[in-house]
Amino acid sequence: MTGTRKFSGFRNHETHWRDFQYVYPVISRRAAGLSLGINLNPDKACNFDCVYCQVDKSIHGTTSKVDLGRLEHELVELIHLHQSGGLYEMPPFADTPEDLKELKSITMAGDGEPTTFEPFSTLLELVTGIKNRFAGPDVKCILITNASRLHVSSVSEALDILSQNNGEIWTKLDAGSEGFYQKINRTHVPFPMILRNIAQTARRHPVRIQTLFCKFDGCGPHESEIQQYICRLTSLKLHQPIIREVQIYTVARKPRSSRVTELEVTELEPIAQKVRSVADWPVRVYSS
Ligand code: SF4
Repeated sequence: MTGTRKFSGFRNHETHWRDFQYVYPVISRRAAGLSLGINLNPDKACNFDCVYCQVDKSIHGTTSKVDLGRLEHELVELIHLHQSGGLYEMPPFADTPEDLKELKSITMAGDGEPTTFEPFSTLLELVTGIKNRFAGPDVKCILITNASRLHVSSVSEALDILSQNNGEIWTKLDAGSEGFYQKINRTHVPFPMILRNIAQTARRHPVRIQTLFCKFDGCGPHESEIQQYICRLTSLKLHQPIIREVQIYTVARKPRSSRVTELEVTELEPIAQKVRSVADWPVRVYSS
Protein backbone atom coordinates (compact mmCIF):
# COMPACT_ATOMS: atom_id res chain seq x y z
CA MET A 1 0.00 0.00 0.00
CA THR A 2 2.88 2.33 0.84
CA GLY A 3 4.38 1.64 -2.60
CA THR A 4 1.05 2.39 -4.23
CA ARG A 5 0.76 5.71 -2.40
CA LYS A 6 4.26 6.72 -3.53
CA PHE A 7 3.77 5.57 -7.12
CA SER A 8 5.46 8.23 -9.27
CA GLY A 9 3.06 7.63 -12.17
CA PHE A 10 0.37 9.54 -10.24
CA ARG A 11 2.26 12.66 -11.27
CA ASN A 12 1.88 11.90 -14.96
CA HIS A 13 -1.08 13.99 -16.16
CA GLU A 14 -0.28 13.98 -19.87
CA THR A 15 -3.32 14.20 -22.13
CA HIS A 16 -1.36 12.90 -25.10
CA TRP A 17 0.06 9.44 -25.54
CA ARG A 18 2.30 8.21 -28.34
CA ASP A 19 0.70 8.98 -31.70
CA PHE A 20 -2.85 8.79 -30.33
CA GLN A 21 -4.91 11.85 -31.09
CA TYR A 22 -7.82 11.58 -28.65
CA VAL A 23 -7.38 8.79 -26.07
CA TYR A 24 -4.71 8.64 -23.37
CA PRO A 25 -4.04 6.35 -20.38
CA VAL A 26 -3.58 7.68 -16.84
CA ILE A 27 -2.96 5.85 -13.58
CA SER A 28 -5.32 7.86 -11.41
CA ARG A 29 -5.09 8.30 -7.66
CA ARG A 30 -8.78 9.28 -7.49
CA ALA A 31 -9.90 6.29 -9.54
CA ALA A 32 -7.36 4.02 -7.74
CA GLY A 33 -6.43 2.43 -11.04
CA LEU A 34 -6.28 2.97 -14.78
CA SER A 35 -8.45 5.64 -16.35
CA LEU A 36 -8.65 6.12 -20.10
CA GLY A 37 -9.08 9.79 -20.87
CA ILE A 38 -10.76 11.08 -24.00
CA ASN A 39 -9.65 14.51 -25.15
CA LEU A 40 -12.57 16.07 -27.02
CA ASN A 41 -10.77 19.42 -27.39
CA PRO A 42 -7.50 18.66 -29.18
CA ASP A 43 -7.64 22.28 -30.42
CA LYS A 44 -7.35 23.38 -26.72
CA ALA A 45 -10.43 25.62 -27.07
CA CYS A 46 -12.31 26.33 -23.83
CA ASN A 47 -15.05 28.73 -22.76
CA PHE A 48 -13.25 29.25 -19.41
CA ASP A 49 -9.76 30.70 -18.96
CA CYS A 50 -8.95 29.47 -15.45
CA VAL A 51 -5.93 31.13 -13.85
CA TYR A 52 -4.63 27.72 -12.85
CA CYS A 53 -5.25 26.01 -16.21
CA GLN A 54 -2.47 23.57 -16.94
CA VAL A 55 -3.16 23.11 -20.64
CA ASP A 56 -0.01 24.27 -22.47
CA LYS A 57 -1.35 26.74 -25.01
CA SER A 58 2.16 27.76 -26.11
CA ILE A 59 1.99 24.67 -28.33
CA HIS A 60 -0.90 24.89 -30.78
CA GLY A 61 -3.62 22.25 -30.65
CA THR A 62 -3.60 19.59 -33.32
CA THR A 63 -7.08 19.83 -34.83
CA SER A 64 -10.50 21.26 -34.06
CA LYS A 65 -12.25 18.25 -35.60
CA VAL A 66 -12.95 15.09 -33.61
CA ASP A 67 -12.79 12.05 -35.88
CA LEU A 68 -15.12 9.56 -34.16
CA GLY A 69 -13.79 6.65 -36.23
CA ARG A 70 -10.26 7.29 -35.05
CA LEU A 71 -11.44 7.91 -31.47
CA GLU A 72 -13.24 4.54 -31.50
CA HIS A 73 -10.15 2.76 -32.87
CA GLU A 74 -7.87 4.34 -30.24
CA LEU A 75 -10.22 3.54 -27.34
CA VAL A 76 -10.62 -0.12 -28.36
CA GLU A 77 -6.86 -0.46 -28.90
CA LEU A 78 -6.04 0.97 -25.47
CA ILE A 79 -8.57 -1.32 -23.77
CA HIS A 80 -6.92 -4.27 -25.53
CA LEU A 81 -3.43 -3.05 -24.56
CA HIS A 82 -4.59 -2.91 -20.94
CA GLN A 83 -6.20 -6.37 -21.09
CA SER A 84 -3.18 -8.01 -22.75
CA GLY A 85 -0.79 -6.36 -20.26
CA GLY A 86 1.12 -4.75 -23.12
CA LEU A 87 0.41 -1.29 -21.71
CA TYR A 88 2.37 -2.13 -18.57
CA GLU A 89 5.50 -2.95 -20.57
CA MET A 90 5.58 0.57 -22.02
CA PRO A 91 6.89 3.73 -20.38
CA PRO A 92 5.72 5.40 -18.21
CA PHE A 93 3.52 2.47 -17.07
CA ALA A 94 6.23 -0.18 -16.63
CA ASP A 95 6.43 0.24 -12.84
CA THR A 96 2.66 0.36 -12.22
CA PRO A 97 1.84 -1.57 -8.98
CA GLU A 98 -0.33 -4.64 -9.56
CA ASP A 99 -3.23 -3.23 -7.53
CA LEU A 100 -3.43 -0.20 -9.83
CA LYS A 101 -3.64 -2.24 -13.05
CA GLU A 102 -7.43 -2.36 -13.03
CA LEU A 103 -9.39 -0.37 -15.58
CA LYS A 104 -11.65 1.81 -13.45
CA SER A 105 -13.04 4.46 -15.76
CA ILE A 106 -13.31 6.01 -19.18
CA THR A 107 -13.26 9.76 -18.73
CA MET A 108 -14.28 12.53 -21.07
CA ALA A 109 -12.02 15.44 -20.24
CA GLY A 110 -8.92 16.75 -21.93
CA ASP A 111 -7.79 20.18 -23.04
CA GLY A 112 -11.08 22.12 -22.96
CA GLU A 113 -14.79 21.78 -22.15
CA PRO A 114 -15.93 18.35 -23.47
CA THR A 115 -19.64 19.24 -23.69
CA THR A 116 -18.87 21.60 -26.58
CA PHE A 117 -18.70 18.49 -28.77
CA GLU A 118 -21.84 18.12 -30.87
CA PRO A 119 -23.89 16.05 -31.02
CA PHE A 120 -22.94 15.02 -27.48
CA SER A 121 -25.41 12.12 -27.45
CA THR A 122 -23.63 10.51 -30.42
CA LEU A 123 -20.35 10.68 -28.54
CA LEU A 124 -21.85 9.21 -25.36
CA GLU A 125 -23.55 6.39 -27.27
CA LEU A 126 -20.25 5.52 -28.91
CA VAL A 127 -18.17 5.62 -25.72
CA THR A 128 -20.67 3.77 -23.49
CA GLY A 129 -21.18 1.15 -26.23
CA ILE A 130 -17.43 0.48 -26.45
CA LYS A 131 -17.16 0.43 -22.65
CA ASN A 132 -19.93 -2.13 -22.25
CA ARG A 133 -18.75 -4.33 -25.10
CA PHE A 134 -15.00 -4.38 -24.45
CA ALA A 135 -14.48 -3.30 -20.82
CA GLY A 136 -17.69 -4.29 -19.01
CA PRO A 137 -20.48 -2.58 -17.08
CA ASP A 138 -18.45 -2.14 -13.88
CA VAL A 139 -16.13 0.35 -15.55
CA LYS A 140 -17.34 3.88 -14.89
CA CYS A 141 -17.98 6.51 -17.55
CA ILE A 142 -17.05 9.96 -16.23
CA LEU A 143 -17.69 13.39 -17.68
CA ILE A 144 -15.42 16.13 -16.31
CA THR A 145 -17.06 19.49 -16.98
CA ASN A 146 -17.00 23.14 -15.96
CA ALA A 147 -20.85 23.00 -15.86
CA SER A 148 -21.22 25.85 -18.36
CA ARG A 149 -23.31 23.87 -20.88
CA LEU A 150 -25.24 21.45 -18.68
CA HIS A 151 -28.44 23.47 -19.35
CA VAL A 152 -28.17 23.07 -23.15
CA SER A 153 -30.93 20.64 -24.05
CA SER A 154 -28.76 18.48 -26.35
CA VAL A 155 -26.28 18.08 -23.49
CA SER A 156 -28.73 17.61 -20.59
CA GLU A 157 -30.72 15.03 -22.58
CA ALA A 158 -27.53 13.16 -23.45
CA LEU A 159 -26.61 12.86 -19.76
CA ASP A 160 -29.29 10.17 -19.40
CA ILE A 161 -27.10 7.94 -21.58
CA LEU A 162 -24.24 8.53 -19.16
CA SER A 163 -26.15 7.72 -15.98
CA GLN A 164 -27.73 4.63 -17.54
CA ASN A 165 -24.20 3.29 -18.12
CA ASN A 166 -22.54 3.57 -14.71
CA GLY A 167 -21.81 7.21 -15.38
CA GLU A 168 -20.95 10.17 -13.18
CA ILE A 169 -20.56 13.88 -13.75
CA TRP A 170 -17.57 15.53 -12.10
CA THR A 171 -18.25 19.25 -12.12
CA LYS A 172 -16.07 22.21 -11.32
CA LEU A 173 -17.09 24.68 -8.57
CA ASP A 174 -14.13 26.86 -7.58
CA ALA A 175 -15.84 29.83 -5.92
CA GLY A 176 -18.59 31.04 -3.66
CA SER A 177 -18.89 34.59 -4.96
CA GLU A 178 -19.29 36.11 -8.41
CA GLY A 179 -16.12 38.19 -7.91
CA PHE A 180 -13.92 35.23 -6.97
CA TYR A 181 -15.43 33.13 -9.77
CA GLN A 182 -14.49 35.81 -12.30
CA LYS A 183 -11.02 36.14 -10.79
CA ILE A 184 -10.34 32.39 -10.94
CA ASN A 185 -12.37 31.03 -13.88
CA ARG A 186 -12.34 34.15 -16.12
CA THR A 187 -15.33 33.49 -18.34
CA HIS A 188 -18.41 35.16 -19.83
CA VAL A 189 -20.63 32.38 -18.47
CA PRO A 190 -22.64 33.91 -15.57
CA PHE A 191 -21.97 32.42 -12.13
CA PRO A 192 -25.70 31.96 -11.33
CA MET A 193 -25.98 29.80 -14.45
CA ILE A 194 -23.17 27.54 -13.20
CA LEU A 195 -24.87 27.17 -9.81
CA ARG A 196 -28.24 26.46 -11.43
CA ASN A 197 -26.71 23.92 -13.82
CA ILE A 198 -25.01 22.02 -11.00
CA ALA A 199 -28.20 21.99 -8.89
CA GLN A 200 -30.46 20.85 -11.73
CA THR A 201 -28.01 18.21 -12.97
CA ALA A 202 -27.39 16.80 -9.50
CA ARG A 203 -31.14 16.32 -8.99
CA ARG A 204 -31.13 13.69 -11.75
CA HIS A 205 -27.58 12.36 -12.02
CA PRO A 206 -24.74 11.32 -9.71
CA VAL A 207 -22.32 14.22 -9.35
CA ARG A 208 -18.93 14.80 -7.75
CA ILE A 209 -17.99 18.41 -7.13
CA GLN A 210 -14.38 19.33 -7.87
CA THR A 211 -12.98 22.44 -6.24
CA LEU A 212 -9.48 23.68 -6.93
CA PHE A 213 -8.06 26.11 -4.40
CA CYS A 214 -4.68 27.69 -5.05
CA LYS A 215 -2.56 30.69 -4.11
CA PHE A 216 -2.81 33.74 -6.37
CA ASP A 217 0.10 36.18 -5.95
CA GLY A 218 1.04 34.21 -2.85
CA CYS A 219 -2.39 34.41 -1.16
CA GLY A 220 -4.84 31.58 -0.69
CA PRO A 221 -8.63 32.11 -0.72
CA HIS A 222 -9.85 34.54 1.95
CA GLU A 223 -11.90 33.15 4.85
CA SER A 224 -14.98 35.08 3.65
CA GLU A 225 -14.71 33.36 0.26
CA ILE A 226 -14.51 29.94 1.91
CA GLN A 227 -17.65 30.78 3.88
CA GLN A 228 -19.51 31.82 0.71
CA TYR A 229 -18.37 28.64 -1.02
CA ILE A 230 -19.72 26.60 1.89
CA CYS A 231 -23.01 28.53 1.66
CA ARG A 232 -23.28 27.56 -2.03
CA LEU A 233 -22.81 23.91 -1.15
CA THR A 234 -25.35 24.19 1.64
CA SER A 235 -27.88 25.76 -0.76
CA LEU A 236 -27.46 22.79 -3.07
CA LYS A 237 -28.94 20.56 -0.36
CA LEU A 238 -32.35 22.19 -0.99
CA HIS A 239 -32.43 20.45 -4.37
CA GLN A 240 -31.96 16.96 -2.85
CA PRO A 241 -28.95 16.32 -5.07
CA ILE A 242 -27.17 13.02 -5.74
CA ILE A 243 -23.75 14.26 -4.68
CA ARG A 244 -21.28 11.43 -4.18
CA GLU A 245 -18.28 13.47 -3.09
CA VAL A 246 -16.74 16.90 -2.81
CA GLN A 247 -13.13 16.81 -4.00
CA ILE A 248 -10.88 19.60 -2.77
CA TYR A 249 -7.49 19.79 -4.43
CA THR A 250 -4.82 22.15 -5.70
CA VAL A 251 -2.62 22.61 -8.77
CA ALA A 252 -0.70 19.46 -9.66
CA ARG A 253 1.17 20.59 -12.74
CA LYS A 254 2.83 23.91 -13.58
CA PRO A 255 0.02 26.37 -14.45
CA ARG A 256 0.36 28.77 -17.38
CA SER A 257 0.36 31.71 -14.96
CA SER A 258 3.40 32.10 -12.72
CA ARG A 259 1.14 34.03 -10.28
CA VAL A 260 -0.52 30.74 -9.32
CA THR A 261 1.03 28.29 -6.86
CA GLU A 262 -0.27 25.29 -4.95
CA LEU A 263 -1.68 25.16 -1.45
CA GLU A 264 -0.23 22.65 1.01
CA VAL A 265 -2.35 19.73 2.17
CA THR A 266 -2.14 21.32 5.62
CA GLU A 267 -3.91 24.38 4.15
CA LEU A 268 -6.52 22.35 2.25
CA GLU A 269 -7.49 20.09 5.17
CA PRO A 270 -8.89 22.87 7.40
CA ILE A 271 -11.05 24.01 4.46
CA ALA A 272 -12.28 20.45 3.95
CA GLN A 273 -13.02 20.17 7.66
CA LYS A 274 -15.27 23.23 7.52
CA VAL A 275 -17.11 21.79 4.51
CA ARG A 276 -17.51 18.43 6.29
CA SER A 277 -19.18 20.15 9.21
CA VAL A 278 -22.10 21.25 6.99
CA ALA A 279 -22.14 18.88 4.00
CA ASP A 280 -24.02 15.60 3.87
CA TRP A 281 -21.49 14.10 1.52
CA PRO A 282 -17.93 12.71 1.72
CA VAL A 283 -15.38 15.50 1.44
CA ARG A 284 -11.87 14.46 0.40
CA VAL A 285 -8.62 16.32 -0.13
CA TYR A 286 -6.47 15.26 -3.10
CA SER A 287 -2.94 16.57 -3.24
CA SER A 288 -2.29 15.67 -6.90
S1 SF4 B 1 -12.21 24.66 -17.65
FE1 SF4 B 1 -10.47 23.27 -17.63
S2 SF4 B 1 -9.55 23.39 -19.70
FE2 SF4 B 1 -10.95 25.14 -19.45
S3 SF4 B 1 -9.60 26.81 -18.78
FE3 SF4 B 1 -10.46 25.84 -16.93
S4 SF4 B 1 -8.94 24.29 -16.33
FE4 SF4 B 1 -8.47 24.89 -18.46
